[in-house]
Amino acid sequence: MRTVYVNGEYLPENEAKISVFDRGFLMADGVYEVTSVLDGKLVDFEGHAKRLERSLHELDMASPVTTDELLAIHRELVQVNQLNEGGIYLQITRGAPADRDFAFPDPEETPSSIVLFTQAKNLANAPSAQTGISVISIEDIRWGRRDIKTVQLLYPSMGKMMAKKAGADDAWMVEDGQVTEGTSNNAYIVKGRKIITRQLSNDILHGITRAAVLRLAKEAQMEVEERGFSIEEAQGADEAFITSATTFVQPVVTIDGSSVGTGQPGKIALRLREIYIEESRKKAL
Ligand code: PLP
Repeated sequence: MRTVYVNGEYLPENEAKISVFDRGFLMADGVYEVTSVLDGKLVDFEGHAKRLERSLHELDMASPVTTDELLAIHRELVQVNQLNEGGIYLQITRGAPADRDFAFPDPEETPSSIVLFTQAKNLANAPSAQTGISVISIEDIRWGRRDIKTVQLLYPSMGKMMAKKAGADDAWMVEDGQVTEGTSNNAYIVKGRKIITRQLSNDILHGITRAAVLRLAKEAQMEVEERGFSIEEAQGADEAFITSATTFVQPVVTIDGSSVGTGQPGKIALRLREIYIEESRKKAL
């Protein structure tokens, strides 16, 4: 049984409770982060803490904890749950007012709710990193502030189900003919030694792994071009891959049933994965 953190308390997972009036539950009025854990240490905690701060700020939501407290809670959960590899899920919502109401409650009267829990998972040796994954394309019908990491994940969940039904692993979302991102990851193609990924804007989540991987790619003398691309261009590329905190870098080998490059995981994607894991292990804290 896991120990989880809820509003200042560490509790067994079956004793932790959140109000039925919590706005995260009623309105998806909340933000989240997932920080990966390698060798019992946190990968890029600072990046996740900064993005959390930004998400909270954009929604005018107060944080119930400081960044130092957040780090201490993450570390405590890793320790009490003896987590060697996996992730820590963190969610902050606008709290539980006395009744359901569309208007935001007064933060002086209704403090934000905060929940954290650990998830053990095989990250570095995930089998899908060796085989590569298949994706289908679906229309991106999400709201216009995808840069904020909110808990409104119904459409991404539906996207995963559409992929599953089609016998694929994930879906890439397309808007105005161009790929925005995967349901829970950023999307890339490779042409020669050039890595192409959509530019940052409100249309996509500003992936913490994306930032690290693009920096490492540049350090490894690879060229990076931040621009949109279509499904047709991706199908004709040499390689494709995704990044996220819990998948790191994973090759994409088919898109809508069409093989990318040789149909095998690409060299550049696998090299970036290797460099990323190596650096993450070194810098994790
Ligand atoms: N894009 C979306 C829609 C996501 O949900 C995620 C992660 O959950 C990402 C991109 C990747 O972000 P990160 O690398 O910070 O995990």
